Amino acid sequence: MSECLFCRIVAGEIPSTVLRETDQTVAFRDVAPQAPVHVLVVPRRHLTDVADLTSDAGLLHAVVSEAAEVARDEGLDGGWRLTFNTGADAGQTVFHVHAHVLGGTAMGRLA
Ligand code: 5GP
Ligand code: ZN
Repeated sequence: MSECLFCRIVAGEIPSTVLRETDQTVAFRDVAPQAPVHVLVVPRRHLTDVADLTSDAGLLHAVVSEAAEVARDEGLDGGWRLTFNTGADAGQTVFHVHAHVLGGTAMGRLA
């Protein structure tokens, strides 16, 4: 059994609220939402972070495309944010790459 939390969610070993699945990706709600809509999109394949994900252009495209589909499905017409926390200084806590789709409210700028 994998010790990676998101590998276990992808495998269905840990329950989550799954919104979308493809052969390459899974999108599920964050357990501790930081915005009215807070969804995580992960590749099924274990890669550590977005820098690692750039090694597979097709998979990177699949993750970002699914994030856009989530935003559409959730009705985030006013805008949304896509965040890849990368490394400890950025606050990454789960080292299986995931895109945060955040929206449903006006958000302060970070950059
Ligand atoms: P990071 O801090 O690594 O960018 O993001 C990890 C995210 O995973 C956090 O927003 C956290 O709330 C979420 N998370 C942690 N454990 C679980 C879990 O068991 N289920 C779900 N759905 N989200 C989780
Ligand atoms: Zn993993």
